[in-house]
Amino acid sequence: MPVREPDRSWAASLARAGLGLLSPGASRGRLTILIYHRVLSEPDPLFPEENDVEAFDRQMGQVTDCFNVIPLHEALRGLRKGKLPARAACVTFDDGYADNAEIALPVLRKHGIPATFFVASGVLDGGRMWNDTIIELIRRAPGTTLDLTEAGLGQLEVGTDAQRRGAIDDVIGALKHLPFEQRRLRVEAIRALVAVSLPDNLMMTSDQVRHLHGAGMEIGGHTVNHPILASMEDPAAAHAEIAHGKEVLESIIRARIRFFAYPNGKPGRDYLPQHVGMVRQIGFEAAVSTAHGAARMTSDPYQLPRFTPWDRHPLRFGLRMVQNMLKSVDTV
Ligand SMILES: [Zn+2]
Repeated sequence: MPVREPDRSWAASLARAGLGLLSPGASRGRLTILIYHRVLSEPDPLFPEENDVEAFDRQMGQVTDCFNVIPLHEALRGLRKGKLPARAACVTFDDGYADNAEIALPVLRKHGIPATFFVASGVLDGGRMWNDTIIELIRRAPGTTLDLTEAGLGQLEVGTDAQRRGAIDDVIGALKHLPFEQRRLRVEAIRALVAVSLPDNLMMTSDQVRHLHGAGMEIGGHTVNHPILASMEDPAAAHAEIAHGKEVLESIIRARIRFFAYPNGKPGRDYLPQHVGMVRQIGFEAAVSTAHGAARMTSDPYQLPRFTPWDRHPLRFGLRMVQNMLKSVDTV
């Protein structure tokens, strides 16, 4: 039988009290939406801040201690009708990593937590996010120096984990906001310079998406190729990314895709008002961003804020949640 850490229970009581004052429910309710990406089977020395299964399990325990975790569709109905439960929260995942189905799902089930998984349809069944191509290339690159001069990125030191991590951050930072096609070509150019084989099982298979859906989890849209919509010059191409991603997922789960998450998700930088209009017009019921804060009745249902504190200590975790709720915004 697991021993309950004494400071976890008092930290949770304190957090519950604070969150209850700020989010008393009904028309004064505030909805906290948590965002996750990966849950690793074991800690990654290059990404020590990334959740592994133990940290995620602990965090889900803290979340159920502090919040009433409800499905996103129920939370949206509550927000709309002014009937949100006190301390309401939703759990969401972005991108469609295989570990969501393999590692996160059993933990979510153990804690009785419903979650929504926003999946980029184009990376399913053997695809890879562009940033993972960079991460896995640099992780596997032999030697202590990686020469990316021909790709315009110079010589990178990769002798230690810290240097490899620094190189990853530098390359991703240099490419992140390039227009989609330009970025794709740059990634291919880097790939051609590093002769290592890359994993093709990082993202979910269609079967795993069906499995999550069959387990009572919600599947949401996240475009096909995960472009930063604001950097797309052609509005028709942005529209097609959003609409086609929805269609593909609907054909996989044979059910309606109701919710959308903007890739990267910062309003004004990663998506623009015209994309909010597209998401509504295409027939989504609501959408989530990555602006911090908690949603209220008056929040735009097509730009609901999301947040996740990374603190390991339960008291800091609770305090960070309270702080986030104080950031509540009427519209994002
Ligand atoms: Zn994403």
